[in-house]
Amino acid sequence: MKLKFWPFELQLTHPWMIASRRGSNPHQVVLVELTDTDGVTGLGEAAPSRVYEETPEGVMAFCRQVDPGKLSFADIPGSMSYLAALAPGQMATKCGFNLALLDGAARRARQPLYDFLGLGFRENHHVTSFSIGIDTADIIRKKVIAAEKYPVLKLKLGDPRDRENLAALREISPTKPVRVDANEAWQTKEQALTMIEWCAKDGYIQFIEQPMPRDASAADMVWLKERSPLPLFADESYHTAKDLAYCVECFHGVNVKLVKTGGVSVAYDALQAARKAGLKTMLGCMIETSVLISAAAHLAELTDHLDIDGNLLITNDPFLGVTADKGILSFAKAVEKNGLRVTARA
Ligand SMILES: [Mg+2]
Repeated sequence: MKLKFWPFELQLTHPWMIASRRGSNPHQVVLVELTDTDGVTGLGEAAPSRVYEETPEGVMAFCRQVDPGKLSFADIPGSMSYLAALAPGQMATKCGFNLALLDGAARRARQPLYDFLGLGFRENHHVTSFSIGIDTADIIRKKVIAAEKYPVLKLKLGDPRDRENLAALREISPTKPVRVDANEAWQTKEQALTMIEWCAKDGYIQFIEQPMPRDASAADMVWLKERSPLPLFADESYHTAKDLAYCVECFHGVNVKLVKTGGVSVAYDALQAARKAGLKTMLGCMIETSVLISAAAHLAELTDHLDIDGNLLITNDPFLGVTADKGILSFAKAVEKNGLRVTARA
């Protein structure tokens, strides 16, 4: 097996701001390509997040450690065990390799990844929300106008301007369904409840993501869950199925991301485990190219909600894969029929 990896800097339409991290430009990802002795290639992407103390430099250093001779499209569990043993953590990089391995394996099997995983994919069925980061009310208005074609929005809260920002959104779009993501911003259960009750008065807010810090006590979260007028979703609190017991107690649903879990294989298990435990499921993303976004879309059948819009927030996506016209996910325009169904833009 041959390995190639290279950094790529994403250009954002707007500077991206959320409660846990301010003005996080520039955004750099690392692309990973594996080629087997028959010339079959697999493409992956690592999108490291400072929220989880991962950096592009860390990803590059990990990639340099990898002996591609130990990786095989025919043995994904064995390949992932080899990577797991190389270093603890580094989930974004492990995710990049997992995607490349699955892309190659499904292309060898001449199947799209969703069929290779036995899930299938319904066209014209899955809808992603479009995210509006923290900003001034004026920019929020402009962003909401620009997002008119998307049927569901996600608004980032956790800032002194929250009330004027939601009001700005509602000036433009009075009744559009909105999901709120607080990104761990509300520090006490009382503050969180006050904010959630305020959100519920809006009438069109669907649920609240990560109201409190990821290490909030189960006692506080259970108190909040019992009183919350809106469903609560865990994001920073749910990485893999190992976090399930806490999340079943404290939340109504979970938001799974490929870069947190370490790729599609573990995300598949994390979504299945959450469903079996009676939780609602959602797939989310970071700021990413169409490689990671398309990879997530292959798991759409395991979800109740999707928030995979990271490629819609950048202006220089080098790849074509799943599309999200009017928020509706489709592989109909994908030139590549197998694997992740991603190709480089001409
Ligand atoms: Mg979130």
